Amino acid sequence: MKNNKIKPIIAIDGYSSTGKSSYAKMLAKEFGWIHIDTGAMYRAVTLYAIENFYKNNTIDELALLAHLNDIHLDFKLNSDSNTNEIYLNGKNVENRIRAFDISEHVSWVAKIPEVREYLVKQQRNIGKKGGIVMDGRDIGTVVFPNADLKFFITASIEERAKRRFTEYKNKHKNISLEEVQENLKQRDYIDGSRSVSPLTQAADAILIDNTHLSKEETYNKMVQIVKDKFQI
Ligand code: C5P
Repeated sequence: MKNNKIKPIIAIDGYSSTGKSSYAKMLAKEFGWIHIDTGAMYRAVTLYAIENFYKNNTIDELALLAHLNDIHLDFKLNSDSNTNEIYLNGKNVENRIRAFDISEHVSWVAKIPEVREYLVKQQRNIGKKGGIVMDGRDIGTVVFPNADLKFFITASIEERAKRRFTEYKNKHKNISLEEVQENLKQRDYIDGSRSVSPLTQAADAILIDNTHLSKEETYNKMVQIVKDKFQI
């Protein structure tokens, strides 16, 4: 059901591995809007940092900040899948940024105020004309506090770890459920306690806890809310 006349800004925030990005992608496809995965932007900056400024198991933060302006991010539509994919300095990194080494470092990079400032500016610019479904941690609170519709998605840590573990299983044979759960907990903690735009539910966001909901049930619920909100 394409709806090119209505061009809202829809913010989807929430915890890691709740399916935010998948739902954002599906909604954008269904209604003819653009999907922007802001987590992919933080992941791409992390990849750049690991490739260029990684020494003694840590990212050299000062070197990263000195080169922030060398990081050029674009989203381009993959016409086969009809979904947006992220490019880092001209290279498609959509798959690479999902690897576990990136998940291990991304929250450290995402709490650097200058990195957030750099990316939030781009996110506002991409979304300002509307017709956008943007997912992340601070979209409804900081990037677009006046978004037309806001969702906040959560689920229990055990359920989220199980889902992410299933996703990883084929790619990283050595990773355990415990390691995945530990990584999620650590990211929850860092994302929720950082000084700049911590992960928090906006007062006017609609809360969806999908611990006991299937992907389809969650999505149907969101679609109904979108239809009711915009009378489509
Ligand atoms: O959504 P995803 O799990 O891919 O995000 C990866 C990380 O990027 C999060 O754990 C968080 O540290 C950071 N992030 C953020 N703000 C956003 C989106 C993602 O801090 N808007």
